[in-house]
Amino acid sequence: MRVGAVIVAAGRGKRAGGDVPKQWQFLAGKRVANWTCARFTERHDIAEIVLVIHPDDRAFASEIKDVRIVHGGETRDQSVLKGLEALNGENTHVLIHDVARCSVPSHVIDSVLSALRHAKGAAPALPVTDALWTGQAGLVSGTQDRSALFRAQTPQGFALSEIIAAHRAHTGGAADDVEVARAAGLDVVITEGDEANLKITTPSDFARAEALLEQSMDIRVGNGFDVHAFEEGDHVILCGVRVAHDKSLKGHSDADVGMHAVTDAIYGALADGDIGQHFPPSDPQWKGAASEIFLRHAVNLAQERGFSISNVDCTLICEQPKIGPHAASMKNEMSRLMNLDASRVSIKATTSERLGFTGREEGIAALATATLVKL
Ligand code: MG
Repeated sequence: MRVGAVIVAAGRGKRAGGDVPKQWQFLAGKRVANWTCARFTERHDIAEIVLVIHPDDRAFASEIKDVRIVHGGETRDQSVLKGLEALNGENTHVLIHDVARCSVPSHVIDSVLSALRHAKGAAPALPVTDALWTGQAGLVSGTQDRSALFRAQTPQGFALSEIIAAHRAHTGGAADDVEVARAAGLDVVITEGDEANLKITTPSDFARAEALLEQSMDIRVGNGFDVHAFEEGDHVILCGVRVAHDKSLKGHSDADVGMHAVTDAIYGALADGDIGQHFPPSDPQWKGAASEIFLRHAVNLAQERGFSISNVDCTLICEQPKIGPHAASMKNEMSRLMNLDASRVSIKATTSERLGFTGREEGIAALATATLVKL
């Protein structure tokens, strides 16, 4: 099973208010469409993602990574078909998702995918729990049995060739892709939906969606500690900055004790070992290596797992050299290497009051904390 996804974002979303269509409005610091796409790009079981947009929205869409942009048609149906036709033919299945459902929980996607192993179509839904009435002129005119009614959600999943054929044969619009599939005779299995799979429709939905995204936030904290001893030399490298000194730090790599502590803090937050495990000192290829190789590896690993680094705090512990005059350049260099705003990077220093090995100027110790966030 090779699965592609089509995210439909070509609508104009007028009911939600605002100057731009709802999918391009900001929610918890990112555009709605960016949140929605991230739900799919962060998964390893989805091979390809096509984002169908209105041609006017190209500038907004260009910010989104790891998706292919396709221009939609006049109607939702036409947009979906354009997205389906743009998918690589190697895909056997497709998930069609509404961009306005930006908080879709991963278990909803999991259930659709697992149903597709045995069915040509599968889509999430929730049973109707409220009583249902019919009404006329402000009065209840009747009641409606709700036992066989469901509230449909997305992503709706299908065998790719079947849903393409169904869309080509279908004319005259449809509420969703399940309707198109059923018109072509495909059976669609109902999978478990979730109240958290909210569709942003009206202005008040933005606040609800924001609260849902924040509830599902995954926050990790990691710490790192490192020590390097002094040896003969004329400079040290601390947090990527060369500082003149009457000694150097001894180590297999460039012995950047501050950068090592920060790197280990990131690995720690990911619960994924430490520098020594990823870059064994026994391996000669890391001898004299610039420590930024280690830091970039940890930062990329965090990114691959869907985390962004919220902040990093590093304390260097030594009597000499004096860190103060170099702290700003260390902060800038660390922020550049991690691609993180400087306001999220702290580099500070302390002495150990002449006590212990740092007090005797036998080496430098560093302590770091990193916070990682996944929404
Ligand atoms: Mg080290």
